[in-house]
Amino acid sequence: MDAENGLLEGLDPEQLGAVSAPRGPVCVLAGAGTGKTRTITRRIAHLVQRGHVVPSQVLAVTFTKRAAGEMRTRLQALGVAGAQAVTFHAAALRQLRYFWPRVVGEAPWEVLDGKLRLVGQAASRVGAPTTSEALRDLASEIEWAKASLTTPEDYPAAASRARRDAPLPAEQVARVYQGYEQLKTRARMVDFDDLLLHTAAILEDHADVAEEFRDRYRCFVVDEYQDVTPLQQRVLDAWLGARDDLTVVGDANQTIYSFAGASPRPLLNFPRRFPEAVVIRLERDYRSTPQVVLLANRVISGARDRPAGSRLRLIGQRPDGPEPKFSEFDDEQAEADAVAGRIKGLLDKGVAASEIAVLYRVNAQSELYEQALTEADIPYQVRGGERFFTRPEVRQAMIALRTAAGSGRSGELPGVVREVLNPLGLTPDPPAGGAARDRWDSLLALVELSEELVSTVEGADLPRFVGELELRAEAQHPPTVEGVTLASLHAAKGLEWDAVFLIGLTEGTMPIQHAESDEAAIEEERRLLYVGVTRAREHLWLSWALSRTTGGRRSRRRSRFLHGLLPENHPASNTPSGRQRDVVFPKAVQRTCRICDSGLVSATAVKLGRCESCPSDVDEELLARLKQWRKARATQLRVPVYVVFTDNT
Ligand code: ATP
Ligand code: MG
Repeated sequence: MDAENGLLEGLDPEQLGAVSAPRGPVCVLAGAGTGKTRTITRRIAHLVQRGHVVPSQVLAVTFTKRAAGEMRTRLQALGVAGAQAVTFHAAALRQLRYFWPRVVGEAPWEVLDGKLRLVGQAASRVGAPTTSEALRDLASEIEWAKASLTTPEDYPAAASRARRDAPLPAEQVARVYQGYEQLKTRARMVDFDDLLLHTAAILEDHADVAEEFRDRYRCFVVDEYQDVTPLQQRVLDAWLGARDDLTVVGDANQTIYSFAGASPRPLLNFPRRFPEAVVIRLERDYRSTPQVVLLANRVISGARDRPAGSRLRLIGQRPDGPEPKFSEFDDEQAEADAVAGRIKGLLDKGVAASEIAVLYRVNAQSELYEQALTEADIPYQVRGGERFFTRPEVRQAMIALRTAAGSGRSGELPGVVREVLNPLGLTPDPPAGGAARDRWDSLLALVELSEELVSTVEGADLPRFVGELELRAEAQHPPTVEGVTLASLHAAKGLEWDAVFLIGLTEGTMPIQHAESDEAAIEEERRLLYVGVTRAREHLWLSWALSRTTGGRRSRRRSRFLHGLLPENHPASNTPSGRQRDVVFPKAVQRTCRICDSGLVSATAVKLGRCESCPSDVDEELLARLKQWRKARATQLRVPVYVVFTDNT
């Protein structure tokens, strides 16, 4: 078998069409797990192999560092070294570093790490609130505005058009935004969005720079294109110029960043924008068992207003697997303990820890699971934990290398890197073990990176290597750690595990509380659940807890999205759900009326049909159903029993 056939092997006819399409616009519109990422990485490798492009002319972009890392890993496995697979921001940073001195006539401005301090200064100048919560809201409004190409002057009109619930009066947000921009410019700093704005502006305004850039990069690929923002699209257009050598892949049902300005429109409009584009739809799901695929189809078929290009059904290709499991718990601690127990069971059966993930809606949910996994002695990593470039020895090494490069020390890599790192603990032979060995491994990894650079970039020297390291630190490509992954649903996009636990599926968390008043936001939450479900190859657990704390007073209802997903015979499927003003009490743990938060819900109260302390009535219809259900099943099933009240005030 020759190498080309190898690349084309293991592809279905549609994937093959996309991989082997000639240079020019290609669009793959397809659901989760259908092989979009596989297709684009193979396409890049195929174009390289056929001699249509050299790897350094390829620029493949995506949105998260992790997804970019995943693309790099897959490209390396296909033997393609030197193609850039990075986030939009990392690509823009690299380009600005190069073009800025030429265009602006001075060293690149410093990149602002977090904007809260400057937002705070701007807010206090215009008398806006400066609590940490207000500042976070203001910062995300500014980010949305910049991602949507909205100036401070245009902000009030744009925010009202986009029906954004501004955290403060829109005029005030606009003034803070304006002040923030001024302070930042005065401090000669750029924020993350400026990296993109300036890159686009330089390419748009300087024909010579654009020409040089376009001569260098000839083939563009975008993964997860459904989440492109107008600002990123502007950069992409500036990169392309009048050319059309662009491959995009995406799934409109996985748009989960529209709160931050992203939109699936460019993906869905792609065939209209490039009428000669090769457009491919994939339906076969290679990732998940038919059981998981069925559930994913159910989740997304409940979505409202699905645009035409997003009505894709997934057809499972894998052999049957276990049914997805739904579990209800009295409280969150019980949920976390049970998940840890199940993970233990999987590990005992031989499933690798790195093949298991616990996914949640908000990062704060990880804490209980970190505890539970620690107690069960199960290794885990929280996505966003300590990464390679934040390790102390790596930071020290970076300083030493930067100093050496600054003092004019040159020549040959990797020898000079070894020399600089020797005094930091890079002994010729590795230490026996412990922290010294960890340190040595990190330092050696840096030497290996320099070896990799030499093999891909001719004449690479120490300053170039330091620049490369800084970029990598920026991209924070995390080292592989063998542990259970704890990650937010947003961070899980594009990834897959054998076993996935989707936890905390209650109203207020999934969907998140602030989405409740906005139908479009609820739909985005539904897509987020779809992303979560479609991460699982085989085992999928969905769980929720009816109260936050053991015996706690704050009750919860299971997520509205579970409606229609629970199997008929599931104990929880006959209990009431979903009605906005219903309040549910898991009798086993919760006996306090949530409406007045004080009255004790006694058996008499249930009999009388109302709370004894406030005018909340039992919902008759639901109570009747509940009684029926109890009669039929309660003797066989040991599950909590609910009493439902409606707020009639
Ligand atoms: P997502 O929308 O979640 O990003 P995707 O469409 O990018 O998903 P991939 O990650 O490329 O999907 O592929 C999903 C899984 O299916 C991967 O494990 C991949 O290796 C496998 N796969 C893709 N195509 C095929 C194929 N033709 N035969 C066998 N396995 C395949
Ligand atoms: Mg993908």
